[in-house]
Amino acid sequence: MAEYDDEPTGSALGFAKGFGLTFSNMFRHVATEQYPFDVKKTAPRYHGRHVLNRHPDGLEKCVGCELCAWACPADAIYVEGGDNTEEERYSPGERYGKVYQINYLRCIFCGLCIEACPTRSLTMSNEYELALDNRQDLIFTKEQLMAPLLPGMEATPHPMRLGDTDTDYYVREKGLGEVGDIQSTANAAAKTHSGRAQAIEVGRHHA
Ligand code: SF4
Ligand code: SF4
Repeated sequence: MAEYDDEPTGSALGFAKGFGLTFSNMFRHVATEQYPFDVKKTAPRYHGRHVLNRHPDGLEKCVGCELCAWACPADAIYVEGGDNTEEERYSPGERYGKVYQINYLRCIFCGLCIEACPTRSLTMSNEYELALDNRQDLIFTKEQLMAPLLPGMEATPHPMRLGDTDTDYYVREKGLGEVGDIQSTANAAAKTHSGRAQAIEVGRHHA
């Protein structure tokens, strides 16, 4: 400021300096993005909306352990576990996520929940369009977060199709149901939510 204090108000030099600054900025690269008409693709590892993934037969990966909720620094996740029975099975093993909610008014998209998940049920997509006009709608339910059924998957509840025990789901041959499947599931879920086909990818570390 000191260098401008010396300039007499309205002097030619003062005007030249002021307009010089304006003109120099007129030729700089414009950073304005024409959202929502021009939606930019995010970085592959961008932390966006969560997805609850499925096994290749459609059973849910969530076992209702609540580790994601305990890991969350913003207290944004609420989980209630339920017991599977042979007549009504939602996931391999004993338990499944009966109630699952994420409060996007609280979430800071830090990703600690997906790191804590032992079954890789919870992942994050690149979907970021989460602005809504009322608070209630920003509490996403299990139904909203569940990945859609892809070809070959069956709606839950149903018996285990990939083996007789949960071990057959979690200790599997290398390459079977690995990242590729999870990515396609998460991508499809995010597309379902936003209706947009672009800007949806899941980084390998999210799977
Ligand atoms: S991304 Fe972070 S703040 Fe959001 S639900 Fe997961 S742990 Fe909580
Ligand atoms: S999403 Fe993962 S960490 Fe959270 S309750 Fe389900 S299995 Fe446990």
